[in-house]
Amino acid sequence: MHCQTIVLGAGIVGVSTALHLQARGRKVILIDRDEPGSGTSHGNAGLIERSSVIPYAFPRELSSLLRYGLNRQSDVRYSLTHVPKIAPWLFKYWQNSSAAGLKVATHAMLPLVQRCVEEHDALIDAAGLGELVKANGWIEVFRNDAAFSKAKADAHALAPYGLSYEVLDRQQLHQRETDLSDNVVGGIHWLDPKTVTNPGGLTRGYAALFVKRGGQFIHGDARTLRQIAGEWQVDSRQGPITAAEVVIALGPQSADLFKPLGYRIPLEIKRGYHMHYQGRDGAELKHSICDGQGGYVLAPMAQGIRLTTGIEFAASGDAANEIQLKRCEVLARRIFPLGQRLDAQPWLGRRPCLPDMRPVIGPAARHKGLWFNFGHAHHGLTLGPVSGRLLAEMLTGEATFTDPAPYSAARFN
Ligand SMILES: Cc1cc2nc3c(=O)[nH]c(=O)nc-3n(C[C@H](O)[C@H](O)[C@H](O)COP(=O)(O)OP(=O)(O)OC[C@H]3O[C@@H](n4cnc5c(N)ncnc54)[C@H](O)[C@@H]3O)c2cc1C
Repeated sequence: MHCQTIVLGAGIVGVSTALHLQARGRKVILIDRDEPGSGTSHGNAGLIERSSVIPYAFPRELSSLLRYGLNRQSDVRYSLTHVPKIAPWLFKYWQNSSAAGLKVATHAMLPLVQRCVEEHDALIDAAGLGELVKANGWIEVFRNDAAFSKAKADAHALAPYGLSYEVLDRQQLHQRETDLSDNVVGGIHWLDPKTVTNPGGLTRGYAALFVKRGGQFIHGDARTLRQIAGEWQVDSRQGPITAAEVVIALGPQSADLFKPLGYRIPLEIKRGYHMHYQGRDGAELKHSICDGQGGYVLAPMAQGIRLTTGIEFAASGDAANEIQLKRCEVLARRIFPLGQRLDAQPWLGRRPCLPDMRPVIGPAARHKGLWFNFGHAHHGLTLGPVSGRLLAEMLTGEATFTDPAPYSAARFN
C-alpha cells in the first residue's frame, strides 16, 4: 500500500494531525496498534484547558521541596528507585522552572493555548460530537482561607492574559455545586475552558471523521518503521505501507522510534491514574472541579464521576501503585459525597513530557520526510487539534499561524 503521509499513533495528537493533513489534500494513513484514543488520550480529566496559560512547573520554594521530599503528598509521588535514574531530567525541569524560564515557556506555549478551544470546536462541529462537550468551564475549589486568598491573588496576576473567571464565596460555590460539602470555603470558576465527558470517545469520534472523509485507519506496530530507497515503510495488518513522509505521534511511546533513529530528545513520563465513582445517594457533580491543594480533579464523565490524580514519577513499565489514588480519594470524599468505586482496577496513564514544558512539533533534522508531534504533557487533549494544525501547515509548506521555532527538536542539540 502507498500513501503520501503515514501518521503513527492514533491518540488525540495523531488523529488531529491526520485530519489537518487530510484537510490540506494529503493522502494519509493513520496507524495504531490499538483502537484510536485508547492510550493516554482515553483516561484524562477531559479539560480543554484554555485557562492554563502558565505551564506546569517544578516547585522552586524550599518549603515545597521539603514537603515533596517526604513523598507523602497526594499531588506528587515518586518511586525511590526511579528518581535517581531521571535526576538529570528533573534538574533540567527545575532549571527551566525558574521565574525567567517559566516566562519563556509561557510565551512559547501561549499561541497554542489561545487557539485550543476554537480548533476543537471546528472538529467537534464537523464530527457531530457536541453531546460529549460542555461549555460551563471548571471550578478550582479550596479547603482553607489561606489557599483561597493566594489563589485569588494568583488569578488576579493573570489579568494580562484576559482570562474569564468568577470568584465564588462559599455560598455562591454551593449554589453552583449543591452537593459539595461544607469543608470547601470558596472557588474560582474558570469560564473559558470546555470539558469533555468522554475524551477517548472524542478521539474516536475525530478518527471516525478522518475515515468518513476518505482517510484510512489501519492497525500496525510503529516499531517496524524503516527507510527503504528514500521512502518510509511500516508493517500493518494489511501489509507494508510506504510513504514519502511519516509523523511520529506516539505520545509517551515516541522514544521507541526516535531513539533508534539517533535523536536525543529528553522525553520522560509523568504517570497518573483515574477511577470512576457513583455519586452517593444520587449526589451529582455539575462541573469538573479541581482541588489544587490535593492535586486531583473530579470530573463528571459518561462512565461516572472520574477522579484523576496528579503526578507519579515511576518507570513506564512499573506496576500500578494505588497509594496516590487512595490519598486523593480520602481528600475527595471530604469535599464531595463519592459512592462506590465503579472500576475493578485504576486506569494508569502516562503524560509525555519535555523538561522545558513544550512539545516537539516539526521536522527531524537528519531524516528527510520524518516529522515529530509529541510531548504535550499535562495538556495533550487541549493541544491535540492546534498542534495537528501547526504540524500540517509546516509539512505542506503553508504559512504557519505561529512561529514554530519554540517547538523544534533542534533545541535539544
Ligand atoms: C491522569 C491524567 C489526566 C490528564 N488530564 C488532562 C486534561 O484534563 N486535559 C488535557 O489537555 N490533557 C490531560 N492529560 C494529558 C493528556 O491525556 C495527554 O497529553 C494526551 O493524551 C497525549 O496524547 P497523545 O496522542 O500524544 O498520546 P496517546 O493518547 O498516548 O496516543 C499515543 C498512541 O500511540 C499508540 N502507540 C504507542 N506505541 C505504538 C506502537 N509501537 N505501534 C503503534 N501504535 C503505538 C498508542 O496505542 C496510542 O494510541 C492528562 C493525562 C493524565 C495521565
